[in-house]
Amino acid sequence: MRFKLHQIKAYLNNIYIAEYDHGLLMLDSGSSSDYDLIRDYIRKEIRRDINDVKLIVVSHIHPDHSGTARRFNREYNIPIAAHENINLWYSGIPGFIQHRFDNRMALYNSRKNGLPKRNFSFPRKLDLSYELHHFNKLPIFNDWVVYHVPGHTNHDIVLYNDFEKILYCSDTVVMRNRTILPPFPVTDVISINKTYDLLGSLECKSYLLAHGGVISDSECDENIYSHAKRNLCRPMKGILKYFYPFFFITSQAEYKNSCNSERKDSFFIF
Ligand SMILES: [Zn+2]
Repeated sequence: MRFKLHQIKAYLNNIYIAEYDHGLLMLDSGSSSDYDLIRDYIRKEIRRDINDVKLIVVSHIHPDHSGTARRFNREYNIPIAAHENINLWYSGIPGFIQHRFDNRMALYNSRKNGLPKRNFSFPRKLDLSYELHHFNKLPIFNDWVVYHVPGHTNHDIVLYNDFEKILYCSDTVVMRNRTILPPFPVTDVISINKTYDLLGSLECKSYLLAHGGVISDSECDENIYSHAKRNLCRPMKGILKYFYPFFFITSQAEYKNSCNSERKDSFFIF
């Protein structure tokens, strides 16, 4: 194997670090309160210097993925790479509201899962050293290929390592109670269907989930993306039927387009 893979169980999700001789690649940066955890892990478990981190890839700007990136960038000058449109998500007044809303949602989720209260402050924008596009090879770590996979947000990316047949799935799917599910929210059903078809066609030995850990292909009865696709459209229940669109103020157009094309009374919820 070209690298050693490390998994850090962070506050709300898993962070993965690929350790190469020439440096460390961080796959997402956790929540802001994970800063000390990540720094200590690199020093004590990997036994490398923080300056050995050559790249942080932020798959999308949600608080549990982008939380420490800016601080690592400012304190250690570590470059950040993300999709070119990442900074549009929280731009303008709708973006400002969305940012505050997502902060509150992260707090709500942590409380719901019985976790201790933490600070979730996270940036609305990131200073990117590298803007990534569909099918780009990552800078510095050329064995990883970028896939632009909208559906959860419009700027989500995942990373595929063709040599090791490993896919970093980010939030394209989540595992809950040993079941593979679409993420929450799905902002665009049409796009996420295409995303699932695309990612389902990749030959993978291991899937790295931000929420659910590492899944080996050999332990799955069927491709995880086929599984998630079946769980995509379920009737929406209760009060959420009316409030669901407020979970993604910044992508109302995509949501409405999805609703017009799909069954209007059926949309993913879990
Ligand atoms: Zn997310």
